[in-house]
Amino acid sequence: MEEQTPGIDALANVSRETFDDGQTMRIPYPIPAPTAALAPDPGVAHVVAPPMSVNDELAPSHDPDNPSARRAAPLAPEPVQTAPRAVTLPHPSHTRIFVVANQKGGVGKTTTAVNLAVALAQGDLRVLVIDLDPQGNASTALGVEHRLGARGSYEVLLQSDTIADDVVTSTEDPRVQVLPATLDLAGAEIELVSQVAREKRLDKALKRYLQDHPVDYVLIDCPPALGLLTINALVAANEILLPIQCEYYALEGVTQLVRTIDLIKSDLNDNLALSTVLLTMFDSRTKLSSQVADEVRAHFAGQTLDTVIPRSVRISEAPSYGQTVLTYDPSSVGSRTYRAAAGEIAWRGASNQ
Ligand code: ATP
Ligand code: MG
Repeated sequence: MEEQTPGIDALANVSRETFDDGQTMRIPYPIPAPTAALAPDPGVAHVVAPPMSVNDELAPSHDPDNPSARRAAPLAPEPVQTAPRAVTLPHPSHTRIFVVANQKGGVGKTTTAVNLAVALAQGDLRVLVIDLDPQGNASTALGVEHRLGARGSYEVLLQSDTIADDVVTSTEDPRVQVLPATLDLAGAEIELVSQVAREKRLDKALKRYLQDHPVDYVLIDCPPALGLLTINALVAANEILLPIQCEYYALEGVTQLVRTIDLIKSDLNDNLALSTVLLTMFDSRTKLSSQVADEVRAHFAGQTLDTVIPRSVRISEAPSYGQTVLTYDPSSVGSRTYRAAAGEIAWRGASNQ
């Protein structure tokens, strides 16, 4: 992936100021300042907010190397802030199909998929989220019920439904369509084994859907395993978004994922690229988070986004209200960093076209 365009430089400069002291952090711009290189369309409206400094609602730290972090003072309430203005993001030249994958559990795959989906939609882009995880958490966070009898990704993979038959508009944003995970998906790994072209079923269904449904971004949320559901997603996608939690053993399993990606590339989908790595649950009060971030940046130098998602109570609260943090608390640090990540993904893509 190309980088170091003027716009990406602008983002990097801002991001370096992030997490500068304890609970006070500077937030990167939602998108880079428009430049001639990155804003070819004069009709696109750009809003560049000044960096803000807020007391965020950081979740308790668990860093055993840093006991003072555990004794952190009670957190200050987040100051009242005005709702952010919408920022239009560039349309990609072709549909970008991301699989959000990491076989390690609980690293922020679903949180990333749903918040990026809504952030991209708020940038006036059309988004399709495919929930391939039987837990159905992405469907819930996007306000789509996955009750018994509902149809969704299981029926697309194993019955003759088309994606168009089963997509539902998210209550979070009308520009987000969701193919929900239904309860039957739990048995899909086993049922797929005996199917013809079992690795390509999602790819076929998605290609058919995209023929007459214009979509800018497809985000596929995967279960924490490298089984046939994830393989179907890897075959259907052209980019991988790898969320990495800033915690112990962050890179555990990544080698295996990279090996699987290489196999898929050589046998089933040579269009696949690990284009994007996003650091999640960063805790600026711990040395460990910074160490992990440095290690990941050394490993995935060109792919790691400058934006880092902090550990934040608002992000973890939002799903229990059937929401993403972007509508639950639009001006929280979680919302702002997910908007910044969406902007970075969209502008990096635009600069590579
Ligand atoms: P699984 O592998 O089980 O599918 P996952 O990788 O999809 O998990 P999530 O479900 O997104 O991970 O996140 C795991 C837990 O961490 C959830 O309870 C979520 O609300 C919480 N979480 C995710 N991101 C953050 C964050 N930045 N700050 C605080 N909590 C977070
Ligand atoms: Mg998940």
